[in-house]
Amino acid sequence: MKVLVWNENRHEQKNPKVSEIYPEGIHGAIKSFLTEAGHEVTTATLDEENHGLSDHLLNQTDVLIWWGHLAHDEVKDEWVEKIQQRVLDGMGLLVLHSGHFSKIFKKLMGTSCDLKWREADDKERLWVIDPTHPIVSGLGSYIELEKEEMYGEHFDIPAPDELVFVSWFEGGEVFRSGATYKRGRGKVFYFRPGHETYPTYHNKEIQTVIKNAVQWLNVTDTNQPTYGNSEPLESISKKG
Ligand code: ZN
Repeated sequence: MKVLVWNENRHEQKNPKVSEIYPEGIHGAIKSFLTEAGHEVTTATLDEENHGLSDHLLNQTDVLIWWGHLAHDEVKDEWVEKIQQRVLDGMGLLVLHSGHFSKIFKKLMGTSCDLKWREADDKERLWVIDPTHPIVSGLGSYIELEKEEMYGEHFDIPAPDELVFVSWFEGGEVFRSGATYKRGRGKVFYFRPGHETYPTYHNKEIQTVIKNAVQWLNVTDTNQPTYGNSEPLESISKKG
């Protein structure tokens, strides 16, 4: 499977704490465990020409992973529209953490995607809400992260097609932290954890979720529906 990991890659350049946790960038860390899982992984970052994207690259991508935070507005609308079209045509999209405010996620959701947040080293417990879902294969009842940024309800998203995780935070809030959607022929999964100053993407269970999600997001049925003016299958009798 061809996976494209897109990362804004700004925190890694600005904050030594982040580059210490992710010396190859968040995209590099994700690429590493997905490559180990047997996928063909390409990375792209905001500051590359065309944000590291091309029509050819998008057209051959089965699943796109998106991490952004500081510079959502710098992503050119032209590329947001192309990504949206690819999702509608069947490309999977995994939106991580602060990607809730990315142009592409807001465009696909149609809502503000706003939420509450706090950086205070809250413990996070992600409860598995749908134990039969392929995305939670191999997990127990919950994942516990010792420290994370808090995201709290209300999260302004459309009601998810499937709610896979709900997070509890030490400070008392809850959050819909794993939500699936279908848009056109493509699938979308939003997965909350992954604040840049915590080693969340090194956590084996978080890696399991991302690996499962990539499998689940890949649409293999490529039947194109037919649209437009349509000849009748049977002859239609004259009426009146
Ligand atoms: Zn964050």
